[in-house]
Amino acid sequence: MRILVTGAAGFLGSHLCDRLIKEGHFVIGMDNFITGSPDNLAHLAGNPNFLFIRHDVSNFIFVPGKVDAVLHFASPASPNPNSPYGYTNLPIQTMKAGALGTHNTLGVARAHRAKYLLASTSEIYGDPLEHPQKESYWGHVDPIGVRSVYDEAKRFAEALTMAYHRYHGIDTRIVRIFNTYGPRMRLDDGRVVPNFIQQALRHEPLTIYGDGSQTRSFCYVDDLIEGIYRLLLSDEHNPVNIGNPTETTILEFAQTINQIVGNPAGVVFQPASRLGDDPQRRQPDITRARQILKWEPKISLAEGIQRTIPYFSQKMGLSS
Ligand code: NAD
Ligand code: UDP
Repeated sequence: MRILVTGAAGFLGSHLCDRLIKEGHFVIGMDNFITGSPDNLAHLAGNPNFLFIRHDVSNFIFVPGKVDAVLHFASPASPNPNSPYGYTNLPIQTMKAGALGTHNTLGVARAHRAKYLLASTSEIYGDPLEHPQKESYWGHVDPIGVRSVYDEAKRFAEALTMAYHRYHGIDTRIVRIFNTYGPRMRLDDGRVVPNFIQQALRHEPLTIYGDGSQTRSFCYVDDLIEGIYRLLLSDEHNPVNIGNPTETTILEFAQTINQIVGNPAGVVFQPASRLGDDPQRRQPDITRARQILKWEPKISLAEGIQRTIPYFSQKMGLSS
């Protein structure tokens, strides 16, 4: 297939490009570098199965030649207001990537009668009142909360994707991605994995927002990409959760990272107030992914963190 991947210079987008090329597809990567980096695609320079187009997906998209599939991953993704790359500091760009970007990419799929896959998120469940979260849960989102620029853009994107499927008959898929980590995460986007690993490698205390009792369920990037690839090849049009169901409190997560890295500095607690509606619990129910895609994650948290540390260490100049 000739596949358009938006957000190609980002963390997930770049891994997706690698996997698709490895499977024998031709990939057209698109990105405007607002939160991504050309470094993530440097290894693909000169690859005959890869073409890069620098473009903002909020504007009309032109792709040279035939397109068989469109994977829309372009969007800021970090909620941290302490980082200039956090979506609360890019509120209009985030809403445009989710709304106009989804409209434009669906337009490409419609023009080419191509398959379409939307990168949605566990954030559409908001601060959930059901636990763990099944795809049938409608969510608990404040439409004007600080995180709403991301949550509501993704909810709109899902609704628009289903509208194109139902009204125009486009062959769409929706993946609801839960917290994923691994090499190529931006060091300064303020997400918990880059923050904690860098602090641990510097032997500084890990900054916990709030009391650390909030939970997340962390998936290693290779597991996630496998699930997404299986979804692309499936005929499933309804949303599918992809994530690792192993739930941990943020305090336990910090302690795990300190233990693996050998950081004696412990943790420090910071007020959670600026984060506003930080979800208190998050864990995917992956029954549908298991049944429909025969997929489940294989890589444990300890192993995934071990695989991620060398990337951060190298980017920080601590190793070659
Ligand atoms: P990322 O910031 O590393 O990647 C996003 C990429 O999109 C960046 O390269 C950025 O420059 C690009 N981009 C943003 N707006 C754009 C625009 N208007 N035009 C062109 N390119 C644009 O983040 P990520 O973690 O790789 O997330 C990728 C996708 O997966 C996002 O849609 C995000 O919502 C979704 N997601 C990620 C996670 C996760 O845990 N990583 C969880 C849920 C959903
Ligand atoms: N968090 C933290 N310290 C940090 C960064 C994040 O305690 O330095 C917490 C944050 O409050 C949230 C969790 O870690 O409860 C995950 O945050 P992240 O920004 O990675 O993404 P989210 O899951 O909230 O979208």
